Amino acid sequence: MELHLRAEILLTRKCNLRCNYCGLVDNERDELTLEQWKKGFQLLFDVLNVKNLCLLGGEPLVLGIDYLCDLAKFLAGFKDRQFAFVSNCMGLTEKGIGRLVDSGVNTWVTSIDAIGDANLSQSQRIKSQQGLKTLLKFQKYGLKNLMGVITISKRNIKHVIPTVNALLEYGIIPNVEIVHYKRGPYNIFCAPRDILKEDLLDHSVFAEVQELSAQLIELSGKHNFFQVPEFFALWADSKKSLDLKWNCKHMTFIAVDSNGCMGVCDDFFPPEVAKINILDLENITKDEFKKVWLKNCPTCPGCFMSSHVTSDLYVDNMLSARSAGIFNANMTKALEYK
Ligand code: SF4
Ligand code: SF4
Repeated sequence: MELHLRAEILLTRKCNLRCNYCGLVDNERDELTLEQWKKGFQLLFDVLNVKNLCLLGGEPLVLGIDYLCDLAKFLAGFKDRQFAFVSNCMGLTEKGIGRLVDSGVNTWVTSIDAIGDANLSQSQRIKSQQGLKTLLKFQKYGLKNLMGVITISKRNIKHVIPTVNALLEYGIIPNVEIVHYKRGPYNIFCAPRDILKEDLLDHSVFAEVQELSAQLIELSGKHNFFQVPEFFALWADSKKSLDLKWNCKHMTFIAVDSNGCMGVCDDFFPPEVAKINILDLENITKDEFKKVWLKNCPTCPGCFMSSHVTSDLYVDNMLSARSAGIFNANMTKALEYK
């Protein structure tokens, strides 16, 4: 039995913004070249049978439109695989959007922490405004798989529902996550807890989180959402919303860092997994890789990232197989046993 596997690819750690909750940016490191990535993706498909690539950063656009169009054309050639870019959209022009669509891009994801007047940090505000404008331009080119990621923090908690409603009205798929913090030396995605004092949700706002959970259960039951209602129901348990006491156990997910090092997921890169480079997949079988993944995933200090939780719950048959949006559709297909 094999699960459909999704890979989160940190194409680059370079970024043109500095969001306060992000621990990823590193403008100095050596990174894979485009040709190495192409070889690596071929190996991910052939050796690990990865079905979906989520291409994020850092910021993919810092690599340049020519680079991204070249990559998109390459990936669009694999008809039975999907790929999506996750971008802050800074500097993406109308012409660039047209070129990306012509190159085969059919899914674009951006962060929209609030539409309106929330007390966002400067980078969050800039990327939210730019993200919305850009998704609406992609719509003009006929793209339907457009997603806005709302990261909930104390700054925007009161703006989540108005923002979700606005995205739905625009025909954009909402993806609602709770802000999280760096938990251990090998978790790379988020900033340390002390930097996030003004952002982190804690028990003082648990009643608001529960209220939000009820509203999101209702909205995600009626509309095209990234998450399903069962996911938002989990937030009623503070271990799955505020306290990060959850661990994955099924390999539905892997990640690759910008230098080619493999990870358990886009947050967790323990040394035994990271010493395997994407280009080493030429000399390793899927079973061998999976053995290392399964050995290391329980050592993660914990997680509540929605896609990860949702994937595991699908596998455990705890979520219905309702299709909602491209990602859930993929995830649902993904988790059908072959
Ligand atoms: S969250 Fe995204 S846009 Fe913000 S600093 Fe990190 S990589 Fe850049
Ligand atoms: S629990 Fe699993 S999916 Fe979540 S951060 Fe840890 S390794 Fe990643």
